[in-house]
Amino acid sequence: MRVAVVGAGVSGLAAIKCCLDEGLEPICFEQSQDIGGLWRYTVSRRGRPCAPQVPAPVFLPNALFLDYLRRYAEHFNLREHIRFGTTVVSIRKLPDSAITEQWSVVTETGGKQTSHICDAVMVCSGNFSEPSLPLQSFPGIERFRGQYFHSQQYKHPDVFQGKRVLVVAGFLSVSCFTSTTSSQEVTISTTRGAWLLSRVFEHGYPWDMILNTRFMSLIKTNLPAPLSWWLINYKVNQRFNHENYGLQPEKRCFLVREPILNDDLPSYILTGRITIKPGVKEFKDNSVLFHNCPEEEPIDIVVFCTGYIVSFPFLEESMVRVENKHASLYKYVFPTHLQKPTLAVLGLIKPFGAIMPVAEMQARWVSRVFKGLCQLPPQSVMEKEVNEKKKNQVQWFGLTFDEVLKTEWLVYLDTLASFIGAKPSVLGLLFTDPWLALTIFFGPCSPYQFRLRGPGRWEGARQAILTQWDRVLKPMRTRVPAGSSSPFPSLLIVMAFLLLLAAVIFGFQ
Ligand SMILES: Cc1cc2nc3c(=O)[nH]c(=O)nc-3n(C[C@H](O)[C@H](O)[C@H](O)COP(=O)(O)OP(=O)(O)OC[C@H]3O[C@@H](n4cnc5c(N)ncnc54)[C@H](O)[C@@H]3O)c2cc1C
Repeated sequence: MRVAVVGAGVSGLAAIKCCLDEGLEPICFEQSQDIGGLWRYTVSRRGRPCAPQVPAPVFLPNALFLDYLRRYAEHFNLREHIRFGTTVVSIRKLPDSAITEQWSVVTETGGKQTSHICDAVMVCSGNFSEPSLPLQSFPGIERFRGQYFHSQQYKHPDVFQGKRVLVVAGFLSVSCFTSTTSSQEVTISTTRGAWLLSRVFEHGYPWDMILNTRFMSLIKTNLPAPLSWWLINYKVNQRFNHENYGLQPEKRCFLVREPILNDDLPSYILTGRITIKPGVKEFKDNSVLFHNCPEEEPIDIVVFCTGYIVSFPFLEESMVRVENKHASLYKYVFPTHLQKPTLAVLGLIKPFGAIMPVAEMQARWVSRVFKGLCQLPPQSVMEKEVNEKKKNQVQWFGLTFDEVLKTEWLVYLDTLASFIGAKPSVLGLLFTDPWLALTIFFGPCSPYQFRLRGPGRWEGARQAILTQWDRVLKPMRTRVPAGSSSPFPSLLIVMAFLLLLAAVIFGFQ
């Protein structure tokens, strides 16, 4: 079975590998000359590696992460399946393929178009390529004499040297370049505010290794909304009071905003390098007026962190409908109306956790669906679920507007893992391997957990789970004084055991 993969970023690489694992024949088209997608940039970003088989440290800066992806591609011989400098310009179902659902994939290389017949398609083109710049929402921008651009165009901090910079909205991009800016005067304008979480979490552990655990997920998804609101409020304000820093999200009770990871912003605010302001009311020739602020603020450069438009220019509009930034896809992956599930979209999701394990899990599931080893539910069931997702739901993070793409990281991973038989059974393990069960339940949900059983089972998974803290702490514990204690407190283990029993009693699984 020949599978076209569009894009060789994180999702595309996982797609190629999983196709190979299932004995499918991937052919990947990448418009640029290299792998890595969004991670091949000069701006410093930090992320997490995806596959358990290749060792790598925690939170890599983007250059190191790209290096990791290169090693990943080399390790699994992925490059030979990629055609670089080749843009996919159209993907159409072959007219006479009602039964086989074959696809005609038209690509362009150096101005020359070629058509490829494929049995299935994995769209891994990313959702950060078409910037959204709603200038009509910013009165007076046409008379503003300074420079303005979308955050996507930002490549190097030098452009800010000695300038008064205004950053509008969007904290995801803000977090990426505030720490690299060399300007002395930065103002961030935010209408909605944001919760800030530090990567350096409680006791200095990486945030996701503490927050993205099965135990925490159980709490997050089962607590009544007011209680979870209180908990978030309490937790995020422990580091610093968001109200004092001008960051407190507007809506207090119901639409709880998801936290943004940023280590530096509070310290920049504290030292006066960054000032937080409300939403922009109006632009003037060389200044900006904010809501509820009488004084104009002189500004030289405006960076709009106003997000991206989800689009698939090479697909017919009817194939993947995108409304209000929400693509109608079952489990964010499969269009619901195809007779045979032979087209899938990967990476179109914004979970509160690393995207790499998610893209990899999607690719594992999709390749098995393509192969006919996993079935999708009837169309009506899928459509019902997609429509439910579209509605604004008030959950732990409160889903609104573009946030419909966001979902509970671990719950989503578990759902897809259960489709392919790779979800770990904590209860089962409690009887056969209690130590592993405890570590899985209370410890970080690293992707090894999905390699304990099912397709792609890895012999080393158990050992990797039990020793993951050693590897995480090793790069930091570069000076260990004689007689130093174990990095994992034993009291925590006892507590963990008691809590696990409680969780079992309350009917987990
Ligand atoms: C500012 C910012 C910070 C982020 N930080 C993190 C983070 O810390 N951790 C994290 O997990 N995620 C982070 N993300 C999310 C990020 O999107 C993912 O980490 C990851 O890059 C998604 O990979 P992808 O392969 O789906 O898409 P991309 O990385 O966008 O790759 C898509 C690839 O498809 C190619 N392509 C597109 N269209 C075509 C076409 N028509 N034909 C051929 N090739 C095509 C592109 O050239 C590109 O190589 C961040 C995103 C942003 C914007």
